[in-house]
Amino acid sequence: MLRLQGINAIFAVIGLFIILHWGFAPNHHATLTTATTMLGGIAFLLMTVSVILTTRLGVFEEWFGGLDRMYQVHRIAGTFVGVFVIIHFVGVPKVLPEGVDPALNPLNPSSPLGKVSMVLLVIGIFISLNRKISYSKWRTLHKIMALVYFLTIGHFMNAPGIFFEQFSVSGIMLIISSVIGIIALIYTMLGMNKRTATPFIIESVNLMERATEIVLKPVREMFTFKPGQFAFVEIQGKEWSEPHPFTISSAPGEDRLRFTVKVSGDWTRKVREELKPGGEVIVRGPYGRFDASKVSNKKQVWIAGGIGLTPFLSKIRSMEAGDDRQIQFVYAARNEKEAIFLDELKARAKELGNITLYPLFSDIGEFARVDIAKERLPDALDAFEYFICGPKPMVDGLMKDLKKEGVQRSQIHTEAFEFR
Ligand SMILES: Cc1cc2nc3c(=O)[nH]c(=O)nc-3n(C[C@H](O)[C@H](O)[C@H](O)COP(=O)(O)OP(=O)(O)OC[C@H]3O[C@@H](n4cnc5c(N)ncnc54)[C@H](O)[C@@H]3O)c2cc1C
Repeated sequence: MLRLQGINAIFAVIGLFIILHWGFAPNHHATLTTATTMLGGIAFLLMTVSVILTTRLGVFEEWFGGLDRMYQVHRIAGTFVGVFVIIHFVGVPKVLPEGVDPALNPLNPSSPLGKVSMVLLVIGIFISLNRKISYSKWRTLHKIMALVYFLTIGHFMNAPGIFFEQFSVSGIMLIISSVIGIIALIYTMLGMNKRTATPFIIESVNLMERATEIVLKPVREMFTFKPGQFAFVEIQGKEWSEPHPFTISSAPGEDRLRFTVKVSGDWTRKVREELKPGGEVIVRGPYGRFDASKVSNKKQVWIAGGIGLTPFLSKIRSMEAGDDRQIQFVYAARNEKEAIFLDELKARAKELGNITLYPLFSDIGEFARVDIAKERLPDALDAFEYFICGPKPMVDGLMKDLKKEGVQRSQIHTEAFEFR
């Protein structure tokens, strides 16, 4: 779930910038100049936030509620950057303010740098938000944003009479943020944002109904993680290209690491069709904060849709007898055949005694729905804490309906299986 510390920190930085920018605006600035340069400054601060989030540092996972949330904030911040930059461009005066010495404040090279940076930014945002572009192409093209960041620094550092003529405090704030941003960018570009690599050998590749289980044997030490966390899987070999994120479906403490992979595109299809035991795999992580054991509410509803089962699988596999939570576990799949691990889940539910399992099959018209939950759950809907993982429309729909029924947003925890 998105945590508010990170969002509050972003608002605090922007708030401080607004106060400094309005409070110490040069006398010769018209209100329009102050307002549009302020929007330009906020856009740059949001760009810096986006860059900082790419460092994937654990502290930011804590602040934002997991890496998937950090990338969501990264995307939303990027969209606001685009809007603010366009307003800044349209509104900012194209001639020097009266009383500003043109010799000391040439419009060049600030203006052309700003224009190039804006055009690249708009192209970059268009690419970033376009889901039709394949992930690997998208990833390469997205690197254009690093260039945009440097051009933007060049743009405001040369801004005529805006920040530096009078050593404006808001200008100094932008300089400090650009130093932090450049360090973060270099950190990410050098690949230092990748967590420690743990090597594994593929022990087996098990074909299941519309899913593939990869079982990995550690080469040296075992990878440590918490149930519900995910990791980046790098299959070694030129033909396997970039790392892919998967939730760990085994339990901590097992001597093997397991991932359960659904075919969603070319790479996952290749896993199903071509991956063989004996190959090498690097696993990096763990990431994620989809943790049901931390909340104090012992009445919990877990809802898994299709492959969204994986975080719950790890939780159920690691749960010990005597767990004092009362868990209502809804497992929605297309049909019984596609409800992978259903027998294991039934056996665990029986063994543990604190899990009530509700398998639902959409082929016979059964769906995870809030109105049905209202009838079937042993208590009122707002008595529970909700953990939901599955296809986006299902997660969004359930969240909307739960909120309509009076369940607080803070009671609903979701895991997004996508970064962009
Ligand atoms: C936190 C997290 C946990 C996940 N856990 C599981 C899981 O347990 N089981 C499972 O089957 N799937 C899981 N996924 C989804 C899985 O990562 C994608 O389905 C897979 O990477 C698709 O690759 P593809 O090339 O076959 O498909 P494509 O058609 O290329 O992509 C399908 C979707 O996956 C995204 N994607 C593709 N490649 C990458 C990549 N290298 N890095 C990030 N996103 C990518 C794309 O943006 C697109 O939205 C998880 C995703 C995330 C973000």
